Amino acid sequence: MGRFRERLRYVTSRTAVIGAGLAGLSCARVMRRAGHYVEVFEADRIIGGRMATMRIGLVPYDHGAQYLSGRSTRFRDFIQELTASGYVAPWTPQVKSGDGKEAATVPNWHVGVPGMSSIVRPLAESVRIHTGQAVHTISRDHKGWHIWFEDQSTVGPFAAVAICVPAPRAQLLLGPLEEMSDHLSRARMSPCWALMVRLDERILPDQDVYSDMSEVIRWIARNNTKPGRSTRGETVVVHAAPSWSRETEDADPEVVAEEMWGEVSHIFGLPPVRPSQMTAHLWKHGLVESSLGESFVFSTDDLVGVAGDWCLGRLAEHAFESGFSLGRAITQALD
Ligand SMILES: Cc1cc2nc3c(=O)[nH]c(=O)nc-3n(C[C@H](O)[C@H](O)[C@H](O)COP(=O)(O)OP(=O)(O)OC[C@H]3O[C@@H](n4cnc5c(N)ncnc54)[C@H](O)[C@@H]3O)c2cc1C
Repeated sequence: MGRFRERLRYVTSRTAVIGAGLAGLSCARVMRRAGHYVEVFEADRIIGGRMATMRIGLVPYDHGAQYLSGRSTRFRDFIQELTASGYVAPWTPQVKSGDGKEAATVPNWHVGVPGMSSIVRPLAESVRIHTGQAVHTISRDHKGWHIWFEDQSTVGPFAAVAICVPAPRAQLLLGPLEEMSDHLSRARMSPCWALMVRLDERILPDQDVYSDMSEVIRWIARNNTKPGRSTRGETVVVHAAPSWSRETEDADPEVVAEEMWGEVSHIFGLPPVRPSQMTAHLWKHGLVESSLGESFVFSTDDLVGVAGDWCLGRLAEHAFESGFSLGRAITQALD
């Protein structure tokens, strides 16, 4: 057993999670259920990360993850738990892909109700969450781990730290643990522009979802066809293709919004209608290009670990599984 860990056995079982996305909150729940005192630190003002719903005025848009699809038993059980408590409902949209074909099968998808951000809510229960706290670095002394924020304030000591943020950010936070940080460079993430559009009238063709439409547009969804959304007018979420998003990531969001809507209008041959609302948002580390191929990374000597979708794959399910497994590893190490 490492000397650092040996000393900590008698200090505290207070643990810290950095990042309140699906991975961080799934990790926090496992540790909380095992009896640890868990504190979560989130840079944003709200929790959920890419499991997000943005309100522009009164209009909600799911501008990050679009739906859940469960492959593992554990994630399917989680979806069932959410469905039973009303946080999630099935969505069976009409789907068409860029080659003009309608999907052969009706997808078995689930969405958060009233928005995708609802999905993380039950995970946040009985965990202490600090929002608006961007972590700058972590450091340790003989008492344990300390967390430093961008305003140079600090909290601690913690017996263990779970870093549950996108891979490039995790590398920065792991500063003192060079070997672990280098190991993460195998994972690659790409940016993704999300365009949110409000139309007073329905002008898109009949399908609810269109995928792989052009070199610019990867996804178009009629957000208002999801259960629990308002049906007045049309709210549309468009995602740009990763390569186009990378080429334009430094561009002005207003210019990007015009270009993306121009492309959608061209694809469908729409009349020149001006949307009543149109906003582009960049997910800087939005989509996983190549994952690490491991559920999580954890040092039992240092009691620091990392988790996120990028450890295992590119979906919400991977974030949930990765966070869960890291939470279990930390719990076992502290027992
Ligand atoms: C456009 C888009 C569409 C998608 N569509 C789907 C889909 O349809 N289905 C699906 O299953 N998945 C989809 N995904 C993927 C899914 O959203 C992710 O797999 C999942 O949400 C990742 O969760 P996470 O906890 O690993 O990371 P995140 O959700 O990114 O959470 C990380 C959290 O850490 C916080 N953070 C970062 N740095 C710091 C710091 N220094 N200090 C404190 N906090 C910090 C962030 O603010 C964030 O809240 C989509 C993603 C995007 C971007």
